[in-house]
Amino acid sequence: MQTIRAAVCHEFNTPLVIEEVHLAAPARGQVEVEIDAVAICHSDISFQQGGFGGHLPAVYGHEAAGRVTALGEGVSGIAVGDSVCVTLVRSCGGCPSCQSGHLTTCETRHDDTAGPLTTASGDKMLQAMACGAFAEKVVVDQSQVVTIPDDIGKDVASLISCGVITGVGAAVNAAGLRVGQDVVVIGAGGVGLNAIQGARIAGARRIVAIDMLDEKLEIAREFGATDTVSAQSAKPWADVKKILGRGADVVLVTVGVAAVYDQAPRYLANSGRVVMVGMPHGDQKSSFSPLILADAGQGYVGSKMGNVVIKRDIPWMIDLYRQGRLKLDELISGRWSLEQINEAIADTLGGAAKRNVIVFKR
Ligand SMILES: [Zn+2]
Ligand SMILES: [Zn+2]
Repeated sequence: MQTIRAAVCHEFNTPLVIEEVHLAAPARGQVEVEIDAVAICHSDISFQQGGFGGHLPAVYGHEAAGRVTALGEGVSGIAVGDSVCVTLVRSCGGCPSCQSGHLTTCETRHDDTAGPLTTASGDKMLQAMACGAFAEKVVVDQSQVVTIPDDIGKDVASLISCGVITGVGAAVNAAGLRVGQDVVVIGAGGVGLNAIQGARIAGARRIVAIDMLDEKLEIAREFGATDTVSAQSAKPWADVKKILGRGADVVLVTVGVAAVYDQAPRYLANSGRVVMVGMPHGDQKSSFSPLILADAGQGYVGSKMGNVVIKRDIPWMIDLYRQGRLKLDELISGRWSLEQINEAIADTLGGAAKRNVIVFKR
């Protein structure tokens, strides 16, 4: 057991409090990582707002990179001192989902309030998303960690752990994009920009970015969008069909808004599919016409964390970054200290297109 500083949520919709908490030593199969950088993802903010429910007090943060400082028994393939990405993708390896390669939908359930974190007074805490990385250190399952080269900056590496795998993976894994297909990406935020570059890497013909803000659409072009349409247009799906000559083969919804899911099929060509990336709050409902979708051979496809297989996909993403084919540095809009986390969250809520990263200086 050791004492670390963490940003703690005591009550939904109130600022996080920086305080000392206790972190247990890694148990069997677990890895302790000193966090160098953790980015702020919209899921963290949705949790903080109470949109996903969950026990309090809690430590959020799940888009992280750092260095391994201790190992539990039975850990293989990871050594103390390794640079790593820390993800929320905890997989048991043995359930039917894991056995079929769908690690992000592992069926083994865990009690995240029985994790390594406790308050300074010894009460149980939620290690949100199996990470709790708004903290100086984490203890996570070895399945969540991927070793990366030492010379990759931890700030850019942290982005890979959620936003990049979620966006790129949605295009490459979940959508199963083929060369020459047409893609619409709704939402040009941190995940949307990665969906755009994933579609570019996968060889899409046209990539149309849609967002409310013109400034985000400009950035979308830098990441590979060939065309842009303002979401403020009366019928953005009609604008898209003018550009493509028909509907899109794939529509990637990267915003967590149910109303956007309602409209997404309007952008589709026959046999097209809507890929569900953004996560609306739990109280939101969506609706669609089963007749129209069934008749046109269309459908919705789930994409959990880009259906990523982290030990397979993160290494190739890092190689593409080295080659200049995957933009990571350009995704960072600001660097903040842990003490500034509430300001960084406010900045993200202000509509910043890219990612704010908490950086630990030692
Ligand atoms: Zn995330
Ligand atoms: Zn499993």
